[in-house]
Amino acid sequence: MRVDGHTRICGIFGYPVGHTLSPAMHNAAFTALGLNFVYVPFLVTAEHLPAAVAAIRALGLAGVNVTIPHKEAVLPYLDELSREAGMIGAVNTIVNREGRLVGHNTDGRGFLKALTEQAGFDPAGKCALILGAGGAARSVAVELILAGVSRIFLANRSPERAETIAGLLLKIVSADIMVVPWSEKKEKLLAEAVACADLIVQTTPVGMHPAVEESVLFPFILLRPDQVVCDLIYNPPETKFLKSARLAGAKTVNGMGMMIYQGALAFTLWTGHPAPIAVMHKALQKVAWPDSRNP
Ligand code: NAP
Repeated sequence: MRVDGHTRICGIFGYPVGHTLSPAMHNAAFTALGLNFVYVPFLVTAEHLPAAVAAIRALGLAGVNVTIPHKEAVLPYLDELSREAGMIGAVNTIVNREGRLVGHNTDGRGFLKALTEQAGFDPAGKCALILGAGGAARSVAVELILAGVSRIFLANRSPERAETIAGLLLKIVSADIMVVPWSEKKEKLLAEAVACADLIVQTTPVGMHPAVEESVLFPFILLRPDQVVCDLIYNPPETKFLKSARLAGAKTVNGMGMMIYQGALAFTLWTGHPAPIAVMHKALQKVAWPDSRNP
């Protein structure tokens, strides 16, 4: 990688940011295409977020990714939002269009692309159950709605958060969105949602490295071979949740594809070039699963 007077800078704003795998993925892609770009992590506190966003303009950065905890907080500092980012209410990618900062959210579309590529799943007319109601759940829900899903069940540890998301979504789309309790005491309602679901998406951080022995409570015994079960976590490659779903006969998809495709979409927004998916995949595997030869 060369750095000279023409190098364009991309990066990621987050706090913390030391764990990010995005630099490896994007820098490998820039190198593969011979693009004079570099991607660097920026540790940005909440207090410094407005100044950091202003610096995108001042320093002429090509754009940045935005991660925890700034995905929602960054909205007021941008000039424009894409349709998806507006619907989701969160931004994970900023593009600097000659000083005009445009916020995008590529998480949901990245998820959908991975789902299509890896499971051949078309959401049109289907029923989905989303476990969790945080930012990732919201981006997945919006994208599934845009792709024509007929019904979404939302289940969350704190039901009021699921109610809030359902309320926000219903204000902007006409979709069939229902909140179901996620507790052992009311397992019948969850069982009905599982029975209806063609797609089940686990969006909580439970089971993520290093807590790999943990899993959310779920009636795996009810799963069928025609159902697709996704976990947005990619480290480990197969969470305890995903393994239980696979052993119960469902088709499973981990979060690696979403990670790659959300990055690929951002890459194209910044550079105007199609992303080298295979290169990004390889670079990401190398840093995410260094001990695994064939995950
Ligand atoms: P978030 O906004 O903090 O939301 C976390 C969600 O998980 C909330 O619904 C929370 O429930 C729930 N939760 C947390 N701990 C739980 C527990 N012990 N039991 C049950 N529920 C629990 O986080 P996020 O941004 O949505 O991210 C969620 C996950 O998605 C993370 O693992 C992240 O790495 C992953 N992700 C992956 C990709 C990818 O490219 N593969 C992209 C984005 C996110 P409460 O509301 O009750 O607190």
